[in-house]
Amino acid sequence: MAYLTLKNINKIYPNGYHAVHNFNLEIEKGEFVVFVGPSGCGKSTTLRMIAGLEDISNGEFLINGKRANEMGPREREVAMVFQSYALYPQMTVYDNIAFGLTLQGVDEEVIERRVQNTARILGLTDYLDRLPRALSGGQRQRVAIGRAIIRKVGIFLMDEPLSNLDAKQRVTMRYEIAQIHRETGATTIYVTHDQTEAMTLADRIVVMKDGYVQQIGTPYELYYKPANVFVAGFIGEPPMNFVRGTVKNGCITMGDNSLDLGKKLKDISKYEGKEIVLGFRPEAISLADDGEGYPIRCRVELTEMLGDNTNVYITAGDQQAILKVDSHDTPDTDVDITFTIPLESVYLFDAETEKVIG
Ligand code: ADP
Repeated sequence: MAYLTLKNINKIYPNGYHAVHNFNLEIEKGEFVVFVGPSGCGKSTTLRMIAGLEDISNGEFLINGKRANEMGPREREVAMVFQSYALYPQMTVYDNIAFGLTLQGVDEEVIERRVQNTARILGLTDYLDRLPRALSGGQRQRVAIGRAIIRKVGIFLMDEPLSNLDAKQRVTMRYEIAQIHRETGATTIYVTHDQTEAMTLADRIVVMKDGYVQQIGTPYELYYKPANVFVAGFIGEPPMNFVRGTVKNGCITMGDNSLDLGKKLKDISKYEGKEIVLGFRPEAISLADDGEGYPIRCRVELTEMLGDNTNVYITAGDQQAILKVDSHDTPDTDVDITFTIPLESVYLFDAETEKVIG
């Protein structure tokens, strides 16, 4: 039996807005699940329904097989970390972390032991006497996390916890959140609009768009087996390139290049005259004409050297794409080059349904 079960969960706000449609998910104990998608797709709404902060309009939420729709947040034994740290400014780090336990009237000695242990996990031992204003953004967010994990609840919910941090702090905190999860083993649901956070932290990712679940899978599955154009374009950085075209004699064109789709799809004839989307990832190409797959003649417009790799912006006719190449192989700009998309790196989507083909 799954630890958490969401069965056909819907949210319709009092103003009639249908924010979440038929959300289905089973979460195992100890799993780290990330809800990812663009702003407004219903991630926070779903998390808040799990937390008990928002009513479930339709469907059933179970904890350990027991209906939890009507349970209050306390009864559900969840702890939540928000984007804003919401620390008490006049209290020390120690008191902020201890606050929940103090309220519950837990023994001073037990509190002391648990605060010290939590501070050790979070690297806050040397900061326990400080006030929040004397901490960096990353340290403040760690205190907020400390306040949540000290309660030793079964379910740990995080809503964009890193979005107030700068890029460097985000990377550090991401690592720390992964470590905390390893150490505490708490079932965690984490909301973000950032695909990198999702890919690096999650056991499983739920990709959402416009209130609908698009795909649920491991980071590996989402990257290599995207179910539709949206997931393919959302997971991966730079995003997957898409070439749209009408199938003519089994081919679509990219500039002067004719791409024989029969190489990839045996029954291409049923798509004759229809529009198709061909996707390939910037990093899944080779900078040569190796005779296999799809060799593409194109123009180099711009290059961005990023260290070990370079983003190469190319055009072929009116189609554009980005290639990610080893920086030692950076081509000159304003020259024509040929690169090859290997067949195994090609994804085909039905342009109408946007679903993957084959
Ligand atoms: P996300 O977390 O993915 O950014 P939200 O779950 O916060 O998205 O919001 C999903 C949609 O529901 C948005 O279009 C948002 O405007 C709408 N929404 C959120 N809260 C309310 C509310 N209280 N009343 C009506 N609509 C809301």
